[in-house]
Amino acid sequence: LAQLYGPLNMLGYIYRSVNQSLVDTEKLLKLLSQPTEVNDKPGAPDLLVEDGEIEFQNVTFSYDGRSTALNGVSFKVPKRSSVALVGESGSGKSTILRLLYRFYDLKEGEGRILIDGKDIRDVTQASLRRAIGVVPQDPVLFNSSIGYNIGYGKFGASSEEIEAAAQAAQMHERIVTFPDGYETKVGERGIRLSGGEKQRVAIARTLLKNPPILLLDEATSALDTSTEKDIQKALQLLVEGRSSLSIAHRLSTIASADLILVLKDGQIVEQGSHTELLAKNGLFASMWADQVSATEDAASVKRDVVTG
Ligand code: ATP
Repeated sequence: LAQLYGPLNMLGYIYRSVNQSLVDTEKLLKLLSQPTEVNDKPGAPDLLVEDGEIEFQNVTFSYDGRSTALNGVSFKVPKRSSVALVGESGSGKSTILRLLYRFYDLKEGEGRILIDGKDIRDVTQASLRRAIGVVPQDPVLFNSSIGYNIGYGKFGASSEEIEAAAQAAQMHERIVTFPDGYETKVGERGIRLSGGEKQRVAIARTLLKNPPILLLDEATSALDTSTEKDIQKALQLLVEGRSSLSIAHRLSTIASADLILVLKDGQIVEQGSHTELLAKNGLFASMWADQVSATEDAASVKRDVVTG
């Protein structure tokens, strides 16, 4: 998902540049609403989400017309269930999320992506994106107050709603330690937040947005145990009752996913629950064994340092 926000990162860059000439956030919002390379069909209706069921039907995709990023990918995210994507770097996890968010449209013969049975190419991009909440690995924060950054999830959110979302995202206790509480400026010209804190701001923002569908990209960098626990707790609340697709880098965090899809070279090579996949003794089981031994090595190094 690092590149799901490719275009947004670019806008972030533009924002930072224009920000230096003191242009305010309103301008950024206008920039963000500029059409990207995907265009709506004339007269396309808005997407109406009832169940939030997602389906990929035989999706094949290439960024450059030469190498294949996805090759015949088919799966379903049944309504209100959680599906996790795992696989080595470059296996196609982020591409799945980018296509669902319509950063690119599939062409004839490249398969279809449906939400509640509706092809996402046939509805407006704006309505699609309203229905989807995204929690990226490294959320972009506006150079504004922490309250604004959370409230951005819902137009006209009251301060009570903002605080309730921050509570649910395990961020309130931290915010009240800031010099001006919810009015404290964050971002480049204010308090700098850690990766884990930024992710909790994004979770609070998404809780306020209250979308039926969620795309999540778990942080790759190791977080300390208490931050990790806070994030897991916040994510659990967020995921409940919604259809979600998450990219998992640390396999331990997806044991509770309803379905795990294992990707390799743009194809789904295994799928099932955590227990089913371990029993298969295939790619997932070997990735799991690698991570467990890496964690044990790290723990024994730590023990040696402490005791040695
Ligand atoms: P990671 O865990 O490193 O984020 P990933 O599983 O999410 O990897 P993708 O980003 O979906 O993998 O990439 C799938 C394939 O598509 C890779 O071969 C990658 O090099 C290629 N790819 C990704 N983004 C682009 C792009 N913007 N232009 C060209 N090729 C790309």
